[in-house]
Amino acid sequence: MPHAKKGLRLDLRTLILVLSALTAVTMLLPSYFASYRVQRQLLIDHSLEANRVYAAKLAAITDTFLGNALQQLGFSAGVQAHNLNDAPSLLAETERVLQQSIAFNSTFLVDAQGFLRAVSPAPLRHLIGTHVQTPGSQEALRERRPLVSTPFLSAANNLVVALSQPIFDGQGKYLGYVGGSVYLRERNFLNSMLGEHYYKDGSYLYVVDRNRRLLYHPDPERVGTVVEGNSLIDQLPALSEGTRQIHNSAGVEMLAGFATVPSTGWGVIAQQPLSQTVAPMRQLILNVVLLSAPLALLGFLALWWFALAITRPLWQLAAGALALDRPGTSEHLHKVRAWYFEAAELKRALLFGLNLLQERIGRLNRDAQTDPLTGLGNRRSLEYNLSLLKAEERNFAAVVLDIDHFKRINDTYGHAVGDQALRQLAELMRSCCREVDVLCRTGGEEFIMILPGASVEIATVVAQRLRICVQDTPLAAVGAITVSLGVAHWQSNSGSLPAEVLSEADAALYVAKQNGRNQVQVARSGEAAHS
Ligand code: GH3
Ligand code: MG
Ligand code: MG
Repeated sequence: MPHAKKGLRLDLRTLILVLSALTAVTMLLPSYFASYRVQRQLLIDHSLEANRVYAAKLAAITDTFLGNALQQLGFSAGVQAHNLNDAPSLLAETERVLQQSIAFNSTFLVDAQGFLRAVSPAPLRHLIGTHVQTPGSQEALRERRPLVSTPFLSAANNLVVALSQPIFDGQGKYLGYVGGSVYLRERNFLNSMLGEHYYKDGSYLYVVDRNRRLLYHPDPERVGTVVEGNSLIDQLPALSEGTRQIHNSAGVEMLAGFATVPSTGWGVIAQQPLSQTVAPMRQLILNVVLLSAPLALLGFLALWWFALAITRPLWQLAAGALALDRPGTSEHLHKVRAWYFEAAELKRALLFGLNLLQERIGRLNRDAQTDPLTGLGNRRSLEYNLSLLKAEERNFAAVVLDIDHFKRINDTYGHAVGDQALRQLAELMRSCCREVDVLCRTGGEEFIMILPGASVEIATVVAQRLRICVQDTPLAAVGAITVSLGVAHWQSNSGSLPAEVLSEADAALYVAKQNGRNQVQVARSGEAAHS
């Protein structure tokens, strides 16, 4: 395994995860945002439409109600035309109309000169006989037709809207009018119809007349006041029905639906604060997030797993590439599951490169331990094999040999022929040894044979056999040569170093030379041990 570098290190897995997270964010956020906007607009449109329908419905009801009320008054006008000189009957009829429905807070009759002739309810009767000066009365006397007045202050100091029907006699002479008044600041048909509809969600409705004066408002204080600075109310006379996003008098953004009452031009406006309308959005978004969170988590885990699966082979290959020079890397690389094209190609290339490398290193190692002239091991090979034997604690015998009077051969036949003789001697050595024996050329014409596991006796036999073989095998151009040999033995438990055994063998060889050459001598310690 390679050493991980300390500190921040970007690896492919992190990059894939970051990329996936970025992709998810860039995909999800706009869709969240878009769905938020769409849902919000849906809520707004829905609220506007609901308010419009509601306002239209109430405007229609109000129109019907006013029509009914005028019809009642019209009928009463026909009755009163015959009662003008009969005060009790006048009173009885005004009382009947008052009681007949909830339409009016008071009913009355004014004659053509503007004098009040009858009125109900009873508490107002002290006004009978007075001259009525109100704008509503003057308008009714002037117009002489069915009317719904603009709001005005009545003789009894009520803010009222008066409905009236003219009275004509059989000849069409104008006799006055019958009227019914609606007290805007008291319980009346408008607020009993509309007042129920003040919802908890902040929605409410109000009614204005043509002059922007409030006829109904959930806040009774505002009834009778004129609405200023409301663009919708300003334009209302020109519009019949629709929706608007407006700011109310308190500066709150409102979703308003509106409709006008055809007979009077009154405007009915139903509205709800925008903030209340879109309030469910927060819960909606929270729900969306809560619903999608487990899925997102699952998706992230799947991504994590997938990122691992993609990066694992690359990571393992990278680790292998960093450890090409270590043993076992080839097996590690073979085990990598390269399940997609790039990883498979990298694995193939790495294994190919590793094989090539190992082959080169092996050849270099061999070359470094080989004597180029004879193909035997060199001194490096000798040392390597001795260290192995020592590590294995394996006994061995060493045979050192040196060509007798080789200098003469060189001098007589030349160096090249001498080299040829060296190569042939190496062949003879090979033929006298086992596969496991280590044969080395350690100097010009000096050789060493290491015989693992061999005793002194066996080594001596081998040495003698080689000596005789050399002596009896004439070499090309040179003829017969002889060699002298020294034999020594290394005992793993002797405490001595393998190199010391070589010195002993050298010493034995020296003795062989001294004693006349072409012979085998055994080192004295070896003799002692095995004699
Ligand atoms: P001795 O019997 O005492 O060993 O006599 P010698 O002539 O063999 O003496 P020595 O071992 O000292 O001589 C070594 C000679 O071997 C010297 C050199 O001419 C020759 N020699 C050393 N290396 C090579 C080589 O690589 N090729 C050839 N052709 N000759 C070599
Ligand atoms: Mg020599
Ligand atoms: Mg020699």
